[in-house]
Amino acid sequence: MVASVPVPQSSPEQTLGAKAQRSDNFAKRHIGPNTEDIQQMLGVLEIADLDTLIDQTVPQGIRLHQALQLPAAQSEYAALARLKQLATKNQVFRSFIGMGYYDCITPPVIARNILENPGWYTAYTPYQPEIAQGRLEALLNFQTVIIDLTGLEIANASLLDEATAAAEAMSLSYGVAKNKANAYFVSRECHPQTIDVLQTRALPLGIKIIVGDHQNFDFDQPIFGAVLQYPASDGTIYDYRAFIAKAHAEGALVTVAADILSLTLLTPPGEFGADIAVGSSQRFGIPLGFGGPHAAYLATKEEYKRQVPGRIVGLSKDIHGQPALRLALQTREQHIRREKATSNICTAQVLLAVMASMYAVYHGPKGLKAIAENIHQLTVILATGLQRFGYTVSSEYFFDTLRVELGTQNQESILAAATARNINLRVFDTNAVGISLDETTTPEDLIDLWQIFAQTDDLPFSLEELKQPSSHLLLPRTSKYLTHPIFNRYHSETELLRYLHQLETKDLSLTTSMIPLGSCTMKLNATSEMIPVTWTEFGKIHPFAPPSQTQGYQILFQQLESWLSEITGFAGISLQPNAGSQGEYAGLLVIRQYHESRNEAHRNVCLIPTSAHGTNPASAVMCGMKVVGVACDDQGNIDLDDLKVKAQKYSRELAALMVTYPSTHGVFEEGIQEICAVIHNHGGQVYMDGANMNAQVGICRPGDFGADVCHLNLHKTFCIPHGGGGPGMGPIGVAPHLVPFLPGHSVVKMGGKQGIGAVAAAPWGSASILVISWMYIAMMGADGLTEATKVAILNANYIAQRLKSYYPVLYQGKNGLVAHECILDLRSLKKSANIEIDDIAKRLIDYGFHAPTVSWPVAGTIMVEPTESESLAELDRFCDALIAIRQEIAVIESGKMDAEDNLLKNAPHTAASLITGEWHHPYAREQAAYPAPWTRENKFWPAVGRIDAAFGDRNFVCSCLPMEAYSS
Ligand SMILES: *Cc1c(COP(=O)(O)O)cnc(C)c1O
Repeated sequence: MVASVPVPQSSPEQTLGAKAQRSDNFAKRHIGPNTEDIQQMLGVLEIADLDTLIDQTVPQGIRLHQALQLPAAQSEYAALARLKQLATKNQVFRSFIGMGYYDCITPPVIARNILENPGWYTAYTPYQPEIAQGRLEALLNFQTVIIDLTGLEIANASLLDEATAAAEAMSLSYGVAKNKANAYFVSRECHPQTIDVLQTRALPLGIKIIVGDHQNFDFDQPIFGAVLQYPASDGTIYDYRAFIAKAHAEGALVTVAADILSLTLLTPPGEFGADIAVGSSQRFGIPLGFGGPHAAYLATKEEYKRQVPGRIVGLSKDIHGQPALRLALQTREQHIRREKATSNICTAQVLLAVMASMYAVYHGPKGLKAIAENIHQLTVILATGLQRFGYTVSSEYFFDTLRVELGTQNQESILAAATARNINLRVFDTNAVGISLDETTTPEDLIDLWQIFAQTDDLPFSLEELKQPSSHLLLPRTSKYLTHPIFNRYHSETELLRYLHQLETKDLSLTTSMIPLGSCTMKLNATSEMIPVTWTEFGKIHPFAPPSQTQGYQILFQQLESWLSEITGFAGISLQPNAGSQGEYAGLLVIRQYHESRNEAHRNVCLIPTSAHGTNPASAVMCGMKVVGVACDDQGNIDLDDLKVKAQKYSRELAALMVTYPSTHGVFEEGIQEICAVIHNHGGQVYMDGANMNAQVGICRPGDFGADVCHLNLHKTFCIPHGGGGPGMGPIGVAPHLVPFLPGHSVVKMGGKQGIGAVAAAPWGSASILVISWMYIAMMGADGLTEATKVAILNANYIAQRLKSYYPVLYQGKNGLVAHECILDLRSLKKSANIEIDDIAKRLIDYGFHAPTVSWPVAGTIMVEPTESESLAELDRFCDALIAIRQEIAVIESGKMDAEDNLLKNAPHTAASLITGEWHHPYAREQAAYPAPWTRENKFWPAVGRIDAAFGDRNFVCSCLPMEAYSS
């Protein structure tokens, strides 16, 4: 394309010199429309100015009448410098702590081309599979890695962390176990944070956790399942076969929490009888990040495929008969089952799963095995040396972790010597320490470690002397893994680079066009926000590093918490929950604990409007609550009468109301204060789902108008990218009376005095991505954030206004305005032209757009959320596309176009389908592929045609395709 745009010599903004007009003002770059655009859009709405728009949209009674008290906005450059100062307050020690977190090396080609690449990190969850084949293939590779290494039949496409994965496995076992037991055995050799999360999750479900020694558990008490750590948390490798046989005889399922790298050398759980394997894929190239984000895995037997939590990528075919991937068994996705769900997981850890899979692609089976063998040999040598100094290593069988009994040595002096060398060891309660080696460990590290334990720099032996190849592996692995060509052909950087790029270009991300997904807030993920994520001072820190080394993080948390408190109007914040769903769960547990503390433990009814997101009822059920639906009226508002009736009826048992605000119907309900008051009058608490916070920041605050708890999806409102389906963060804010119940953690002391247990493996969840939200708030400041909210609402109303004569806008507030998103009703098109919602979603692909949210919260509609980051030009392009599609439908309605063979039914059109064979359709090829002017300049071609999902569900395949599929 030849650009003929004149280059301005000096922009009026620069010559003006006014502060708000400075060109390093970040808010101006974050917000799409400029001042003139905003005026033009207001003109279309016939509204004088932005403030009038907000006055007419947001109920007066809940408005915030002062500016948010936040630090002044900083430029990108200044904010990065400020954050760097904080970062340098973190001390990067060499970590030998282990406990499920290991330092590792992110291959630079993966770091730069995935982790630092918006083509990957700005993509959405692959619900439109025709434009998501790249990440679907990467996730299929991830599942293949997990299936091969665990020796089980199927795997999902990631969970949030190892501890919650273990909890998901417990729920799965509870659901499918044939016996009626309600006790779950947890080996005391599991990582402490896993035990902690299991206890939290078991309590509200009435599951009894038995923490014990698997070697002498006698199965006196009936159990429905058990979880064992492999190798154990202290490094010991046990032979679990006898235990598993006994458990199976009792009708119980056994979960093995396995270290993924060790499985390249050890017999996999599937081969010794485990029913489920869970674990973390962190050490496959993902930075420690002070706890996350990392992708956990869950593998099991095919017979449980419908009970598996999270998403599973599966193979199917498109209308041309070509293999194509999509999310399998979607109706099985747990939170879609609402109150019948056994899991609430929605956002998972796609970006990290993609990276871990590519680590396996990069190294291949031989490379992975070499890494594991090297670590094991170093561990053997380390143990030999320690024994020379008279130390006892607890176990004969280990992979990479030793528990060293200190005998007559003093633990404190060993730890002090380690600290002096910038080394962290694991501290046991008894007089012992733990040492875990990893991919980054060098022979020099061994020397340092010996010097620490010898308490002298003069070692009586050299490393060479101790080098005697020997194995301390119990049950070494004999079966092959990762034999598929995918893991054996991209071992040159050129090949891998092109493979990554090939996958990336199959996917539509924010680098192509707006992703107008209602409720998901796909806004700008600015480069300056992303840069600190890969700083070593944030990335190379173990979640259980001593607080003295994590001062930078602590200050960052305090600042972010205080900013989020100010934005929400809440007294306390917990940064632990790893996604919105986890925030819901944590918040409801806090409510549960609060009632219990007041001797009102019988309060267990949770009122949830029928329009709520599926995670809401799923979370409530996981908290042991009974879900009672509340109707909505024709305007999309909660039916106040029905609410009052239900609140009255369940007055004694009322625990909480879960309400989304503005509603999932895209409206600021006028009655929100009254709604909250009704609940409070009956002794209940109000949980606000904060997914729509992007419509509130700076305008109103949930803490002010009656909510008691609220979660924030930092991956929606606060700029953490969606990563193709994760990572996310779902911190909760709570009113003062709930602060004592905020989540704690068994390894790091935190949370409220009567806090609920841990809800995530790491104390501050996915700590390393909190820098993104910190940067966003620091660069926007109070004015920028408030302006963003106003423009988000303006953009939505502009779209509603431009489209309403083509597609009815389903719900509006009292002045005919919507909040930050709008629902377009397409239901009549089914009758008039036999057009389904999917036909429009797929035709949008031909125009270069990702579909809005389809059929949620109302079937047969699309929900459009433009966010403030989209410019007027982009909004117009999107509206033009939908208007043009409406005209294509009109031709069908008029009978001039075939009702079955038309532009919409055949969408999306692949390049191959347009150039191969003869053309038999009643429309031109150009019209199919280039329906709008911009498609000629920047055409996004879908990799496959429309996918037949049902075929894949009937023929379930969730690991790598046979090679022929790739060559075709
Ligand atoms: C996104 C969303 C959720 C779930 O959040 P996750 O981070 O995906 O777990 C819950 N409720 C609403 C309204 C949402 O839009």
